[in-house]
Amino acid sequence: MKRPVKRRIGESGNGGSLTVSPVHRFPVSSDPLERWDKKYLWHPFTQQSEWAAREPLIIESARGVWLRDAKGRRLMDGVSSLWVNVFGHRKKEIDRAVRRQLSKMAHTTFLGLTHEPAIRLAQRLIEIAPPGLARVFYSDNGSTAVEVALKMAYQYWQLRARPEKTKFVSLKDGYHGDTLGSVSVGGVALFHQRFGKLLFKGYQARFPRPARPGDFGDLEAVLRRHHAKIAAAVLEPLIQGASGMVLAPRGYLAHAARLCRRYGVLLIVDEVATGFGRTGTMFAVQQEKVSPDFLCVAKSLSGGYLPLAATLTREKIYRAFWGRFDEFKTFFHGHTYTANALACAAALANLDLFKKENLLENVRARSRQLASELAPLSDHPHVKEIRQAGLMAGIELIQDKAKGVSYEPARRMGLRVCDACLPRGVWLRPLGDVIVVMPPLAISASELSFLTRAVREAIAEATGS
Ligand code: PLP
Repeated sequence: MKRPVKRRIGESGNGGSLTVSPVHRFPVSSDPLERWDKKYLWHPFTQQSEWAAREPLIIESARGVWLRDAKGRRLMDGVSSLWVNVFGHRKKEIDRAVRRQLSKMAHTTFLGLTHEPAIRLAQRLIEIAPPGLARVFYSDNGSTAVEVALKMAYQYWQLRARPEKTKFVSLKDGYHGDTLGSVSVGGVALFHQRFGKLLFKGYQARFPRPARPGDFGDLEAVLRRHHAKIAAAVLEPLIQGASGMVLAPRGYLAHAARLCRRYGVLLIVDEVATGFGRTGTMFAVQQEKVSPDFLCVAKSLSGGYLPLAATLTREKIYRAFWGRFDEFKTFFHGHTYTANALACAAALANLDLFKKENLLENVRARSRQLASELAPLSDHPHVKEIRQAGLMAGIELIQDKAKGVSYEPARRMGLRVCDACLPRGVWLRPLGDVIVVMPPLAISASELSFLTRAVREAIAEATGS
């Protein structure tokens, strides 16, 4: 293995020498934006010592599936700007809707006021949501959409005189965001373990692997034993995204929904990543005809334009909170930018385009194309597995396939592959050693081929075979 490089970073604010990983490929520039980024910023989910040693990609503009950086380099947005972009950047109709809304107002509070874009969007969401969902509670991001569902479920049982139902059951390797409530129902050891003592305790069921047919894990056993104390079950439908694009066995979601009904436990489905077409249907739950008690959406809701999230729930849940003020049944939760008018306008324009552009048809066609263009990689000596649900795919790398030995984390193989995509005109962000391919849903056939070719070549280059 190459030895780490010692490198001096001029104005990184770290006082001098720094050990950096061998993934560093670019010289440090004298560009003031780059210096200030390294001097003043702290990037999310980023080891800053690596960041400080690399040339940051400073994105200046974007159009369609393409990003353009300050040096004029054109890169395909291969992960939809972290799984959010739907119709590409600078989509004329969404730009226009945001501008039109801006000419009226950018934001007013939703605590005590209301406005047309949020009202119309709620009506549209209920129209397209699975049957039974009747109410929309807005927030700003995926974590808060889940947080809201958790708190609503918790309070609901108190209002129904079942105060002992305070626990949640979630799945191992699940990911629901980074606020403490959503971390409490998360199960990705790398992200969540460190915060263990801060979190509320619940139950965790094993996530079943499709490789074992008929295996639906132990959710039933957990519910049978503990249902009297459980307020709700929380899960990602069809595919666990952030833990590395891990597929659930077909039928698992419907199985979980049946169990929840049988054991009197509410079902929270987190469609933050899968919602709005990503897996080939508007919502992933529709593929197993599931209507959850709470549906959490965010990311692609606004087409990837502005922060917006929603927690959809049933009338029965909403009604339980109904009463005189001095009964104190109110749901005391809300965020300052809840239902931001610009974001709602973007979301309405985004949803209008789904039908007009027949987007779901494109997702299904491009999903088949993606599967066939990635298929040759399954024989690659350093590809352990390719997992895909619609336009949501992960390619897991492995050092020794025969022996099942993973790459050492310090090798940063996932990052190396993504780095090798850059000169090929594609930007990707891996999940450890899983290469994530999640392009904007409106990507064309030729653009997708450009992307898959870059990925195949980059894997060959970075793994040396
Ligand atoms: N839930 C799921 C399934 C996600 O994939 C994510 C983010 O990737 C979140 C929740 C958190 O969303 P946000 O980053 O907007 O808080």
